[in-house]
Amino acid sequence: MNRWQKILSESITDPADLPPRFRVERQALREVVATYPMRINPYYLGLIERPDDPLGRQAIPDPRELADLVCPADPLGEENFSPVPNLVHKYPDRALFLVNSGCAMYCRFCTRKRKVGTDRFHIDPATLAAGLNYLEKTPAIRDVLVSGGDPLLLEDDRLEWILSGLRRIPSVEIIRIGTRVPCTLPQRVTAPLARLLKKFHPLYINTHFNHPAEITLEAARACGRLADAGIPLGCQTVLLKGVNNDTKVIRKLLHQLLMIRVKPYYIFQADLSRGTDHFRTPVREGLAIMGQLHGHTSGLAVPKFAIDLPGGGGKVQLLPDYALPEGKVHTFRNFRGGYCDYPDPE
Ligand SMILES: *Cc1c(COP(=O)(O)O)cnc(C)c1O
Ligand code: SF4
Repeated sequence: MNRWQKILSESITDPADLPPRFRVERQALREVVATYPMRINPYYLGLIERPDDPLGRQAIPDPRELADLVCPADPLGEENFSPVPNLVHKYPDRALFLVNSGCAMYCRFCTRKRKVGTDRFHIDPATLAAGLNYLEKTPAIRDVLVSGGDPLLLEDDRLEWILSGLRRIPSVEIIRIGTRVPCTLPQRVTAPLARLLKKFHPLYINTHFNHPAEITLEAARACGRLADAGIPLGCQTVLLKGVNNDTKVIRKLLHQLLMIRVKPYYIFQADLSRGTDHFRTPVREGLAIMGQLHGHTSGLAVPKFAIDLPGGGGKVQLLPDYALPEGKVHTFRNFRGGYCDYPDPE
């Protein structure tokens, strides 16, 4: 067993095993976990000070998960865009390929909460082969986003089998891996893993950090190792109430990501995923945070703010409203709140 596998095997999955200092209502949490599993590995547990701190809220179950009467189970309509199981083809030239059902931690706000970490999420060699076969028969897809669950929780040889299968398809130009492992179990990013991934370039990784306290020495080492393997790293952050819906927190996160060579790619408005309503923030709050970033800090640090629209509408990018169009002269409100004109050509 590798070190990361040992850490993972020591995860807490029963609320009764949470440290007594957290003082949570164990019985209520057991009911939550019967529907939505919990997994907190010792590494991430060690970063949590209190259950209601920004990291505790992401990891520790909450009775409000079962009280959510607002959000649908499959908010992005993924099942309606799946030509074969575990493959989502929603945009013309790219697809999402789900290759593993488990994660190093079960994030309480997860979009695929309806199935992640449960037997409702079924992946086996036959679904993987069907996915590869669909990609082969659909040459319009040139960018494959490999996700789950977390692909990097697969053992090296299984991962290599999947990536080789993708690389054998001539129309697949770009392989992207979506993984939270650099944040939730950075020990998984071993030297052999980096050597393995390097064989499949052009390969990009989008990771997922939500709070500056997640950027530890271990996380920095993991991201450095991937960057040294020539893998461009991006980050997809989710705006979450009580976790990071605060300009100062987001700004610090974005700056620290750049320091570990991760380029912020998206900030997402939280999806309408059943069991996560208590994490959602108003759209205008996200826009206000973005207004405090554009122009106020390096463009390199500023991700796109997007909503993945309910019902499978897809992602739309939102910008603070700078443009105030009027006649042939356009008036813009800039990030400082001042007004500037731009005249159209005659
Ligand atoms: C987000 C997403 C992608 C990738 O979208 P980009 O904007 O290119 O990052 C592809 N497929 C699905 C289903 C997605 O949700
Ligand atoms: S790592 Fe990603 S897929 Fe896994 S539980 Fe967290 S948000 Fe969901």
